[in-house]
Formats: sequence, C-alpha cells, structure tokens
Amino acid sequence: MLTLSPLLQKERALRLAWAKYLAFPDFEHFVEFSLSLNNCTDALSQQSQTGLHHACRQLEQQALALFGDENSHPIAEDIMNSLGDQIARLGGLLRRYCAGEGEIAEERRAREKPDAAPIARITNSAQQVFLMGKRGARWHDLATQLGYFGISAHDHGWKLPAPDHSGLGVYLLDVGEQHATHWLPTLRQLRERVPLARIVCLGMPNEFAAMNQALQVGADRCMAQSASLQQILSQVLAHRETEEVESYRVLIVEDSRTAAHVISRALKEYGTLTRTLYDPLQTLSVVRQFQPDLILMDMYMPGCTGVEVARVIRQHDEFLSIPIVYLSGETNIGLQMEALRLGGDQFLTKPFNPVLVNAVVKSKIDRYRELRRSMQNDSLTGLLNHISSQQALAAALEGLRDGEGLAVVMLDIDHFKQVNDTHGHPVGDQVIRSLAWMLKQRLRHSDIIGRYGGEEFVVGLARARANDAVEILDRIRSDFSRITFHGIDDTPFCTSFSVGIAVCAESASMKKDLKTLLEAADSALYQAKRQGRNRVVLTGR
Ligand code: GH3
Ligand code: MG
Ligand code: MG
Ligand code: MG
Repeated sequence: MLTLSPLLQKERALRLAWAKYLAFPDFEHFVEFSLSLNNCTDALSQQSQTGLHHACRQLEQQALALFGDENSHPIAEDIMNSLGDQIARLGGLLRRYCAGEGEIAEERRAREKPDAAPIARITNSAQQVFLMGKRGARWHDLATQLGYFGISAHDHGWKLPAPDHSGLGVYLLDVGEQHATHWLPTLRQLRERVPLARIVCLGMPNEFAAMNQALQVGADRCMAQSASLQQILSQVLAHRETEEVESYRVLIVEDSRTAAHVISRALKEYGTLTRTLYDPLQTLSVVRQFQPDLILMDMYMPGCTGVEVARVIRQHDEFLSIPIVYLSGETNIGLQMEALRLGGDQFLTKPFNPVLVNAVVKSKIDRYRELRRSMQNDSLTGLLNHISSQQALAAALEGLRDGEGLAVVMLDIDHFKQVNDTHGHPVGDQVIRSLAWMLKQRLRHSDIIGRYGGEEFVVGLARARANDAVEILDRIRSDFSRITFHGIDDTPFCTSFSVGIAVCAESASMKKDLKTLLEAADSALYQAKRQGRNRVVLTGR
C-alpha cells in the first residue's frame, strides 16, 4: 500500500476550505484557506513533485498577496473566480497524480500474484519515458537501453504533448547547447502541460544562469552536455526507485478498546497502517507477523505493564531498534523516565493531540527505516547485503507452505576483473549498479535480491518452479548482455553474467536447508562458468 491518502486528504481539505470561504468570505476563512494551501505545498515538496509543487506554490503566493486584513474581504469577484478555477485545476491534477500512483501500485500488486507472468512489462504511462529535443542517433541508443530495463521510450522531437495531457512519467528534454531563448519557452510550456511528470534537461550549458532559468520554470534536474548515456539512464532509474513509499506500519498495544479505536483512527487519517493488540502477552508473535515500524504502547494493562512488554521485546536482537512510544495517562515524570530507561523511545501523554502523535510516529519511523536500510542494504546498489539476504532466504524457506518451492539463484558477472582493469573501478561500479537495477526492475517485489559480495548476487524466487526460474533468469541474462556500457574514452563494451540455480523440493517433508541450497546453486554457477560463461545452469541437470 502506498501513502496516497494524506495527499488526497489535503486536497479535500483545500477544496473544503475554499468552499467555506465562498460561503463566508471573511478574513478568518481566508486564513484557513491559505493554511490548507500551505499544507498542500509542504506535502508536495516532500514528495519531490516539482510540477505540482510549482503550481501549488504559485497559487499560495497569490493567496498570500490577497491576505490583507478584515477589511480586504471578500476579495473582488473576478479574482475569486480565477482562484476558484485554479483550485479546481490543481485538485484535478492532485487526484490524477494519486490515481497514477495507485495504478503503479496496482500493477506492482498484479506482478506479485503467484500466477503472474514471469516478467511483466511496464505498460503504465506513469512509468514511461518521453524523449524530446534534438538528440537523434543517441535517442535510439537510449530507448534501446531503457527497453532492456522494461521501460518504453517515445520520441517526441520538439512536439509538445497535448495541452490536456496530465501524464506522469519522465520527460527528457535535450536542449542541445542552444541558447536559452530557444528552449526556455518549450520547457515552460512542457511544464504547464505535464505538471505531474519529471522533467530532466539534457545538454545544458554548464553555466549558472541557464540552469537557474531551467529550474525556475520547472525542470527537476539539469544534466550537462558531457553526461554519458549511463548517467542519463541512472537518472531515469534512480527516479523510479524513489516512487515507492511504503505505508507506515504501527502496532498499537492497548487494553482499552475505546482508546485503541481513537488512536487507530487518528493514525489512519494520515495514511498509516495499524494493527491493534488488546492482549500484551501476544506482542512477540504479532510483532513477528505484522512487522511494524513502530509500537505504540499503553502503560497499564492487565497481566503486565507496557514497560515489561518493552523489556521483553528488547531481549530479541531483531527488535532491538524498533521504536517504542508510550501513550499513557501517566503524568508522573519519575515513572516516565523509568519507562524510557527500560527500552522506550518516547513518552506521550493522554489525552493526546493527534497531530503530535502523527508527527512523532512519522519522524521515529523515518529514522528507524533509514537505520534499518543502512544496516541491511548494500550502499552501492541498495540491495540486501550478504547477511540480510541470507536471513531473508532463511525466512522465505521457513515460511514455505506445502507444495511451494523456493528457487535460490547465484549470479556472478563474467570476467569482471577485466572490466575493472580496462575501464577502471568507477565504470565497474556502474556495471554492478546496472545489474542491480535490472534485477530489481525485472523481478517481483516479493522476490529476494541481494548483493552477495563484489560482483556476485543472490536471488530467491518464492513459489517459483525450476523451469520458470530458469526462464526468468535466462531472459534477464540475455537482455543484460545486450546493454552497452561506456568505458574509458567512451569506448562501448558489453558484459555478461553466469547463473547457477537450485530449487528446493516442493514438499514440506523434503525441505532442504539453506546451506545445502546455497552450495548447490554455487556449484551450478561454477559449472556455468566452466561451460563457457554467459549461461544459466540448474542443479542436477
Ligand atoms: P569470472 O568470470 O570467473 O567470474 O571472472 P571475474 O574476473 O569476474 O572473477 P574474479 O573473482 O577473478 O574477479 C572479481 C573482480 O571483481 C575482482 C574485484 O576487483 C572486482 N570487484 C569486487 N567488488 C567490486 C566492486 O564493488 N566494484 C568494482 N568495480 N569491482 C569489484
Ligand atoms: Mg490501559
Ligand atoms: Mg566474476
Ligand atoms: Mg566472483
């Protein structure tokens, strides 16, 4: 689930505030309206939605200019009408944006289904790339390369999209070293027509004035003339990675049903996913199952206190850093201090302020996720690191139901030392990153992808049959081998990888242990190398 609803709620609040002002056009209501507009602008800047943010900020500037005092309201009728039109347009765009994000989520969910096609192609407009400007031959290369990642690219030349086009996606506008007077109007019009899309300007002259102008009229990113195809590709792929924001997950441990309901409602209003637990003795198993990002803990419950529950949670290494926030009527400072010392992160008192609770929850979770990411993920690729990929595989094996299999895949780039020796380490890093992106792009969200070491990766495909696993990996192998990288002096080169696969038996009684599976996959990989590399080998065949 994506955190969409907060934005939609802000849009609704804005419309409501405006409707109220129309009904009671006084200073007070104009202040309300301006505040809700400001709220929208804030939210959009956090989502790095330059186009929408731009539109919203402009509206906010107008509102602030009209602020005045008690005597300035109602504002003139024509200004009121113009504001109303702009609010309606902004609202439409916001809703379209949220719907687009919803479509992405939908498509992702479809890919998660056990019977989904092994490699789903991206068909959603939100995920497309539009090429504009004058790049010619290089566009073709870029489109081909994007194709290997499952992203379709369309060449527009200098033609602007239709005015009513409220598309998402990424627009790459190549200004081709021309003078700003030539491309600036195009860029401005493009931003007006696609307020929801990401716009990257390519071929920018490396000077402050031009870049500043481009950013002012709504470019999201400027890249210099010298940027390589790889760097441009990185921009598109990196952007796609940030699109996904998982909902915050909060476990509420609270014996009072009324209190639990009120807390849960306050959190849900901001798009947070909640689970309520009335019996504190079940906490450990529910934490394991629900995997919350934070626990909101009542202080006094029958059977045990919140502090006791927190202390038990902290005995488990995997839950050492999960934030625990107490929410209680306890106002004794001494007891509060004691609670914090025994493993809590913060103390909020009842009756609580929903805005404050949400702010605390959000900031604690953001920091926790950041910490978890840096502990579990590899810094070059963002994939799981060696240890956490092993843990994820072990958990997947553990969670298999009867009749389900797990394919364990070891993958190693061929003759990688040669890439480093010829083109240098940074180019080698780029190759590793591209492979990581491709795996993320082409495998399902539920699959496990880890960087096992240097140029070696491990993949776990849940519920995959051996033949499916071979087919999936072989297609990725084939596409990866066609990617053109650019090394020293822009020399193009290609590279490949070899794959070994082992699949655990599809019957609970024959479940293999992870060590055996990894060894089997590794020896299959070794065979693939011996047989000439750039191929997939399945164990026992
Ligand atoms: P093979 O086909 O048998 O796998 O040959 P290879 O050259 O890929 O294998 P080898 O294990 O001899 O070399 C792996 C190289 O990967 C050596 C090491 O310098 C390089 N490497 C490991 N980690 C990184 C990294 O993070 N970045 C870069 N650029 N190179 C790395
Ligand atoms: Mg209680
Ligand atoms: Mg290698
Ligand atoms: Mg190796």
